[in-house]
Amino acid sequence: MADSFDVIVIGGGPAGYPAAIRAGQNKLSVACIDEWRNRDGNYAFGGTCLNAGCIPSKALLESSELYHRAREEFAVHGIKLTEVAIDVAQMQKRKAAIVKTSTQGINALFKAAGVTGLHGHGKLLSGRRVAYTGADGSQRELTGRHVVLASGSAPAELKSVAFSAPHIIDSWGALDLEAVPKRLGVIGAGVIGLELGSVWRRLGSEVTVLEALADLLPMADQQLAKEAGRHFKKQGLDIRLGAKVRGAKLASDAVEVSYEDAKGGHTLTVDRLIVAAGRRPYTGDLLGAGTGVELDERGFIKVDEHCRTGAEGVWAVGDCVRGPMLAHKGKEEGVMVADLIAGRYGEVNYKVIPAVIYTAPEIAWVGQTEEQVKASGRPYKIGVFPFPANGRARAMEQAQGFAKIVAAKDDDEILGVHIIGPMAGELIAEAVLAMEYAASSEDLQRTIHAHPTLSEAVHEAALAADKRAIDSINR
Ligand code: FAD
Ligand code: NAD
Repeated sequence: MADSFDVIVIGGGPAGYPAAIRAGQNKLSVACIDEWRNRDGNYAFGGTCLNAGCIPSKALLESSELYHRAREEFAVHGIKLTEVAIDVAQMQKRKAAIVKTSTQGINALFKAAGVTGLHGHGKLLSGRRVAYTGADGSQRELTGRHVVLASGSAPAELKSVAFSAPHIIDSWGALDLEAVPKRLGVIGAGVIGLELGSVWRRLGSEVTVLEALADLLPMADQQLAKEAGRHFKKQGLDIRLGAKVRGAKLASDAVEVSYEDAKGGHTLTVDRLIVAAGRRPYTGDLLGAGTGVELDERGFIKVDEHCRTGAEGVWAVGDCVRGPMLAHKGKEEGVMVADLIAGRYGEVNYKVIPAVIYTAPEIAWVGQTEEQVKASGRPYKIGVFPFPANGRARAMEQAQGFAKIVAAKDDDEILGVHIIGPMAGELIAEAVLAMEYAASSEDLQRTIHAHPTLSEAVHEAALAADKRAIDSINR
């Protein structure tokens, strides 16, 4: 193996591995170092996303939703089942197989792109040298013309609630539960709390979510957040807002959580407690002395809009830098950096990053919320189309939620799109593309959407912005 490369990427998650592949596609010599080890002790590329995040959570969301629908909904279709039971071990086996296929796929992609994949630890030293400790403990010094830091993030631990497996667990632990807990507590009604709370609720847990803030999903359009809150309540997710957790202690085989809200102090007793109170950038033993790379006050690696750190030839991408902690954001940053290194064009449009919450109904948005547009002072109009008026959604027995478009009154530019309903995470892609091309709501209005599809809801929402919806009453 060579000791010097055009590009060395430290971290093989969804920010680092695409950077390595694109660098390879750009005919640069590239190595990608990653230290992730799964519970079986095996190394695997893919980082949090493939091993303990996006992919395994979506596998469990799918299984648990099918179970829920088989129990609650199939009868409406005339499908009679005599017994519906959940086999958690099989569900977990399926999840593990999906993770394995996904992470092993990266080895094949690396091979095809000429990337040298290295398992083990990487540490940036001065002068773009990298100290590499291999899986077998061997040590080497590598040099890169460029180094890309993609070290990712880790679950934030609360001072008042220390992790204590198997009772007090982080999201990885929550993905690996071997049985359905009778009483499940979740700290944090953020994306992880809602997704993983939904998984275990559908499988039968009594789920209580303690959220410190007074509002559910404050970052989302509030019409969307309110609709989501109604659905979660109907599903039996007990979300307690304004609940500030003060501590948690183990009591035989249970956890006693103490929290305060406007009414005073309370204790909640649960069998398992998931702490999903955010994630922090991870830079453990990443930076040696004199690298010139700086961290901000919250521990993120400081970068400019093109992901350059303050050190010549050193870049940083993904969860370890500012911006939303999302796999697709990290991926685009990684690709941008690899293209810029090769002297090509590279840019990330931070204003048009979609967000998706994979609950049922799904929640997705891009651009500004109605509240943000209102606060900006720009005159705007909104179009809302309810899924109960969409034929495909009714045929799917999923006629709930709405699509909403916020557009400028002056030039009709689409400023934000907010969807809660079936396959919202897929539907949002049309809005992302429209906004990437600075489309107007009229552009969407004049685009033919196949019938009957869920995407007609987006079309009709655009029409509704000008009170010209056909399939719902314009208000
Ligand atoms: P990571 O994925 O954390 O990868 C960093 C890698 O670098 C790791 O493999 C780590 O071991 C390695 N590393 C760190 N330091 C070193 C070092 N010094 N030497 C060698 N290797 C090192 N995002 C979405 O967009 N959609 C989702 O549906 C979604 N679901 C999620 C569900 C859960 C439960 C969780 C926890 C997260 C989810 N996320 C989701 C967030 C997503 O996983 C992260 O945004 C994404 O993984 C960040 O990518 P990254 O490459 O920056 O970091
Ligand atoms: P989050 O920031 O989305 O939510 C954390 C929640 O915990 C917040 O609402 C916060 O107010 C609350 N909280 C914090 N401390 C608390 C306390 N002491 N008591 C009660 N509540 C408290 O973080 P997360 O859900 O842990 O997710 C971490 C990251 O992973 C997010 O940035 C998210 O973007 C990413 N992620 C994305 C997806 C997706 O894209 N579908 C899925 C999972 C995770």
